[in-house]
Amino acid sequence: MQIALDGPAGAGKSTVAKAIAKKLDIMYLDTGAMYRAVALHMIDNGITVDQIEAVTNALNTIDLQVNYEDGTQKMYLAGEDVSLRIRENAVSKAASDFSALQPVRLFLVKMQQETAAKNNCILDGRDIGTFVLPGADFKFFLTATSAERAKRRANELEEKGQVVDVNKIQAEIEQRDYNDSHREFAPLKQAEDAVLIDSTNMTVDEVINFVVSVIEGK
Ligand code: C5P
Repeated sequence: MQIALDGPAGAGKSTVAKAIAKKLDIMYLDTGAMYRAVALHMIDNGITVDQIEAVTNALNTIDLQVNYEDGTQKMYLAGEDVSLRIRENAVSKAASDFSALQPVRLFLVKMQQETAAKNNCILDGRDIGTFVLPGADFKFFLTATSAERAKRRANELEEKGQVVDVNKIQAEIEQRDYNDSHREFAPLKQAEDAVLIDSTNMTVDEVINFVVSVIEGK
């Protein structure tokens, strides 16, 4: 079974995908983490988004591993666990920039398709239903207003003790959505056969129960 879960930044895709994977006892692949790890590798090597040749060379030698530890996805670059570093703000922005490059996408899409061919799985991302797994058994497009997504993100960061500016977070989210949906190759887009879920006024549990009910045909 293959499930595609796409949507804009901060819509709660990973929370929902993790819960669905657990409920259905299938694998969860966070494809955003893969774009983030590639972007971090470029940053660490001083490669910028306009240096296509350097990007292509880096993709030929990158040592990128997706591991699962206690059921949690971990990203490794050359044996180093970068799962925390890829969540930094600068990496979010760089991931959105580098993900617009066709060689980056083709490199990661191949890894994603190989993983999906071997496992029952749920993949979350931007182009899973439209490009990576166009034949997925179930497709969902999870969204919420950018104000609501920014509010949720701000709450998360505040719980971790950080001081946040919700307007700045909203502007960053909107910029990333704009980049992701306006790139030429495999942009962020709802697949025609995807079920749209607007979670603006829904709890996480309501979203999860809805997804499960669709999958179980209730
Ligand atoms: O989902 P997450 O916010 O971690 O993704 C980081 C960035 O990676 C996105 O803003 C997007 O540019 C890129 N991405 C993508 N295609 C995917 C998953 C993520 O282009 N399937």
